[in-house]
Amino acid sequence: SAEAPTKVLVLYKTTGGGHKASAQALKDAFEENYGRKIEVTMLDVLPLCAPPFNKSDMYYDFMVKHPFLWRGAFAWSSTKWGERVGFAWYKVGLVDNLKKLFLDVSPDLVVSVHPLLQVPSLAAIRQLQQQQHRPRKIPFATVVTDYTTCHATWFDKGVDKCFVPTVETKEFGERRGLSQKQLVMHGLPIRPAFSKLPHNKAWLRQRLGMRRNLSTVLIVGGGDGMGPVEETCVALDNRFGGAGQIVVICGRNKGLASKLRKRKWASNVLVLGFVSNMHEWMSASDCIITKAGPGTIAESLVCGLPIMLNNFIPCQEAGNIPWVIDNGVGDYSNEPDEVASTVLGWFKKGLRKMRKRALALGRPEATYQIVDDLVELIKDTRWEPFKDGEMSKDLAKFAVAG
Ligand code: UDP
Repeated sequence: SAEAPTKVLVLYKTTGGGHKASAQALKDAFEENYGRKIEVTMLDVLPLCAPPFNKSDMYYDFMVKHPFLWRGAFAWSSTKWGERVGFAWYKVGLVDNLKKLFLDVSPDLVVSVHPLLQVPSLAAIRQLQQQQHRPRKIPFATVVTDYTTCHATWFDKGVDKCFVPTVETKEFGERRGLSQKQLVMHGLPIRPAFSKLPHNKAWLRQRLGMRRNLSTVLIVGGGDGMGPVEETCVALDNRFGGAGQIVVICGRNKGLASKLRKRKWASNVLVLGFVSNMHEWMSASDCIITKAGPGTIAESLVCGLPIMLNNFIPCQEAGNIPWVIDNGVGDYSNEPDEVASTVLGWFKKGLRKMRKRALALGRPEATYQIVDDLVELIKDTRWEPFKDGEMSKDLAKFAVAG
């Protein structure tokens, strides 16, 4: 018999790229392990927000480039009053739109991968339960995608489960009153490709068009190629003096890629735009220089790469710096020349110990473990979905095919 698939709705919001990447990782792992039995829809909540919040991608991009604004907004909205006043304004329109969405889709589970979606989603779920006289609520889970320091609103006592990547985020959740039953620590969801890494480095280097026997440093500035990528590459090239290999991944920053391609280098430098096989480039490298993004850090650990941090987004990425240093898997400097000399020092000393510590901290199975727990949550809750749940055309245009 044609059994209707179980429906999972993953909510994210386009502010930065990381939330969508985590949503995609979860969707991919669901599909790989549960196939057609579970239908996962990723939905960007941004267009469901009332003005001015439907433009928060623009404010976010603007504010993170002006750190004093972002620090202020982050700190204020983390206070009790900021949270209350902020949410009162933010919830207008959004809760009603989420209610409509949940009625239309009739999900068996709602998952949020964004710090500002707990309060409005839970309000919508509660109101629907009351209006429909249901004994049970739609199950709801949060997957935290920040690594150490994060916003207080990630944690809401009303959730069924809250998945955290690190001890630091788990402790934050405890301070916000979540129970041991609610908090689960598996690691940050990263793409399934990172749990099936190629092991032969020499072979991989050859396949990727790299030199096989040179000390190799990967330089990344997040999905958008942010920060002092060019200066760092130049400093490292000078230090290597032709005896090394540098892979620079510029992400979506096309201007940066074309600038770097025009330069003359002493070392073997490979300049790439946005790559979809990051797991291969990481596996083929000896260490990484990167912005302190949670995705890149979690992926680097799984690949056993020592991590030299050279940039960070204030607030949510600031805590990743002491975390990397205290765990003995890397260092930080915002001085390109110091970054280069530190990395060269690593090569002199040998990278083996740092590599071992990175591998021990990496959590290649996290995404699958989260997905398995989510499936258990659906079974345990036995929530009875609304009849004829089918996404209306209105909403379907916001859903991402993935
Ligand atoms: N990434 C990628 N291809 C690129 C550049 C980046 O797949 O060319 C991925 C990278 O592997 C990571 C994400 O983009 O998963 C960047 O996330 P992170 O949290 O490090 O920083 P963000 O860009 O979100 O600030």
